[in-house]
Amino acid sequence: MDLDDKISKIVKEFRPSGIRAFFDIVATREDCISLGVGEPDFISPQPVLESAVDAIRDGFTHYTGNQGLLSLRKEICNYLENEYQLNYDFEKEVLITVGVSQGLDIALRSVINAGDEVIYCSPSYVSYEPLIKLSGGTAVAISTNVENKFKITPEQLEQACTNKTKAILLNFPCNPTGASYSHHELEKLAVVIEKHNILVISDEIYADLTYDSVHTPISAIKWMKERTLILGGFSKGFAMTGWRIGYICGPEVWVNAVTKIHQYSMLCAPTISQIAAESALKNATHDKDLMKASYHERRNLICDGFNKIGLRTHIPEGAFYVFPEIKSTKYNSMDFATALLEQKNVAVVPGTAFGPEGEGYIRCSYATSLDEIKIALERIEEFILP
Ligand code: PLP
Repeated sequence: MDLDDKISKIVKEFRPSGIRAFFDIVATREDCISLGVGEPDFISPQPVLESAVDAIRDGFTHYTGNQGLLSLRKEICNYLENEYQLNYDFEKEVLITVGVSQGLDIALRSVINAGDEVIYCSPSYVSYEPLIKLSGGTAVAISTNVENKFKITPEQLEQACTNKTKAILLNFPCNPTGASYSHHELEKLAVVIEKHNILVISDEIYADLTYDSVHTPISAIKWMKERTLILGGFSKGFAMTGWRIGYICGPEVWVNAVTKIHQYSMLCAPTISQIAAESALKNATHDKDLMKASYHERRNLICDGFNKIGLRTHIPEGAFYVFPEIKSTKYNSMDFATALLEQKNVAVVPGTAFGPEGEGYIRCSYATSLDEIKIALERIEEFILP
């Protein structure tokens, strides 16, 4: 039997993730500095660890309800209200997911019919295009670039909308560019979104890591709430990637629909991790603030460093990535990343891993120590010297 022949056409067409490929090489090298990893270098805060150990000892080893622990949902709603003055009903309008990753998958699958178009920005997080396609949708990328600070403009959105457009998938602060939107910028996009009567799936996993301004969730724009799912999580702000906890908040009808898929495909998010996430919100916000302050310092150092050595770098508003332009060198993105790794033992991700618009850029994560960032910058400077 030719098993390969049996694999679904959509899956066969997927390119392997460009990020994974680099991780695999980095793991085999000594003295390699990785600016490739998209996760915090911190261990989860102590109260989180302790609550999980207690939960295990106390025998919390069973399923929770499909929607997740009521107490965690309540805590998430308190957090959204305190931080952003957003009101969600913890009983009807929140679902606990297995990371934002699962949230994205079921959010799309709950509304997309074959052929529906979903708009997203490129460069974007590597999962978006494959997930849109897996849901049966058609992925419609809007190109962003350094000139418009990697943001979708209302004019671009207007042009991209057709009578097949079902939803827009937003991500801010953005992986890989760090771009985010102000309240005013969101309002302008919201006018176009409402005009075309489309839904919004908003991945705001990096909301806690917004540095120079205040993050505005898109559902804070009043007329957006009824058509929006907000996706949030614990992986980035609380350094809890391995616990696999995220959440979806939105209108009851839509949350019911995502919960239907969740109950058949996942049943519930891991119980111990849900308890740990609740503890994060109750007991670890100070740790979160300290980690954020540290990323802020690293962001300033790395942006400054890249601009000084002649690789133009736009200052990201959030997340923990910079997206330096490498067009002044003799390399394209893939060759730059490959040669840098081979010659100087520094791992970065080629911008093209995030879509064709990423050509001419590399993505560097600054979720690594200040010392390592300094050494990496020295090595990159030596590498690009003519
Ligand atoms: N969304 C974005 C934009 C990300 O960058 C990531 C991880 O890198 C995820 C979602 C996945 O998050 P989670 O760990 O909650 O599944």
